[in-house]
Amino acid sequence: MANPLYDTLFARHAGRDTVFLHLPDGGTLTHDAFLRMTARFAHQIARFGLEPGDRLAVQVGKSPEALAVYAACAQTGVIFLPLNTAYTPAEVSYFLENSGARLFLCDGRNAGALAPVTEKAGVRQEVLNADGSGSFADAAAGNPEEFETVPRQKDDLAAFLYTSGTTGRSKGAMLTQDNLLSNAQVLSDYWRFTSDDVLLHALPIFHTHGLFVATNICLLTGAQMIFYPGFDAGAVIRDMPRATSMMGVPTFYTRLLDRDDFTVDVARNMRLFISGSAPLLAETHRAFEARTGHRILERYGMTETNMNTSNPYEGERRAGTVGFPLPGVELKVCDEAGNELPQGEIGTIEVRGPNVFKGYWQMPEKTAEELRENGFFITGDLGMIDKDGYVTIVGRGKDLIISGGYNIYPKEIELVLDQAPGVLESAVIGVSHPDFGETPVGILARRPGEEPDCDAIMAGLGDSLARFKHPRDLVVVDTLPRNTMGKVQKNVLRDAYKGLFQ
Ligand code: ATP
Ligand code: MG
Repeated sequence: MANPLYDTLFARHAGRDTVFLHLPDGGTLTHDAFLRMTARFAHQIARFGLEPGDRLAVQVGKSPEALAVYAACAQTGVIFLPLNTAYTPAEVSYFLENSGARLFLCDGRNAGALAPVTEKAGVRQEVLNADGSGSFADAAAGNPEEFETVPRQKDDLAAFLYTSGTTGRSKGAMLTQDNLLSNAQVLSDYWRFTSDDVLLHALPIFHTHGLFVATNICLLTGAQMIFYPGFDAGAVIRDMPRATSMMGVPTFYTRLLDRDDFTVDVARNMRLFISGSAPLLAETHRAFEARTGHRILERYGMTETNMNTSNPYEGERRAGTVGFPLPGVELKVCDEAGNELPQGEIGTIEVRGPNVFKGYWQMPEKTAEELRENGFFITGDLGMIDKDGYVTIVGRGKDLIISGGYNIYPKEIELVLDQAPGVLESAVIGVSHPDFGETPVGILARRPGEEPDCDAIMAGLGDSLARFKHPRDLVVVDTLPRNTMGKVQKNVLRDAYKGLFQ
């Protein structure tokens, strides 16, 4: 095949007037119209002088045009580099300089503030607005609607995707065509996607979940997407009766459950709800089933690997677990040295397979630390495998608390605190302590209008947790700090409470 990624995901739809996207204004975009736009963009990318292997960075709103830039990168062999729309110019500066991008597309509203940054990085800046307008689209408007696809190999790089930056500075994961394709193929089969599917797409498209998992699966199978600029529970509830599937982060599910008009009837046409990117509380899983009759299917993945595990399509979807390694993915729970631990023990999750990235761009040391020579990637997540083979994530290695020589897994304490009256959710962090080195502290987000009774909660812990795991202190807050992907930022909390016992 001349260009595996482009041919498999995009070219297969050439000339088809089937619906690809349902748009917020009620209109639709066909596969054919999408591919013609892609070709116009591909010509423009080539005209701007980009060559295969060059990087094209985008920080643009969610739109069909933004997806067409991704497709045009695949067609021209240019490496696609999407950036979180919440990043400030100072943050964008890091990504542009780190990646050595040659072209940067941004929203017109930010163009002025970003100009000095792009100038400094020596990158050409053009505008692509969320409504599809702007200098890039204008320049491309008269271009031919066919483009001769640039040949590529499956091991050529297709995208740089920066990690979410939950634990530290974002790292640019180098993903090949085959990393993306192999995962899209496995997931489509595993989750039984077909051209009859209509996916509710409310995720951002600068992250692996909304871009590579959701979009690539739909492209591969010919499924349609109801394409939202962002998550709006009302809009999702309105459209759900004509959809078959949804992919979401856990907050999508809690926000749907918060609404009385989210009923079993609304979800009647749906065949699959998928959750990932952050842990789904078992309570949410149960409440969702009670409300709709559907068991949410939780899966586990990351920027560097796309998806690694999934609960089964048929068979038991076990709350609190992320299911089994996907076909073709090897997953081990290991000690620090990479030795596999006996079943049931907690250790670091390592994965190997066609989905695993090629390394961090311009970070050879980081790459060497996390990617073993034998191909296993050290995920940094702690987990265990139960006797039935289900994988459970117990937290991130960086969040592990070592107190007086004992390992304490925050999640175990959080699960108990989450159940306490008045507590919406909790985060347990390690805070430095003169006697213990580190000691657990529980940060409790109150339920709206309620006030957790910290003394009573502390007094009740004895029943469920060994003494050394008891938080030394509980702090009540309105909300937990989250990054733009909805992940709790424990480093922010650790920083805020680091002086508690000094
Ligand atoms: P950074 O690597 O920059 O600190 P990040 O790890 O949050 O950021 P992502 O690649 O977006 O960046 O997220 C992957 C991580 O998200 C996983 O390593 C894991 O910790 C978490 N994650 C993903 N899915 C799940 C899940 N179903 N349950 C628990 N954690 C999950
Ligand atoms: Mg990570």
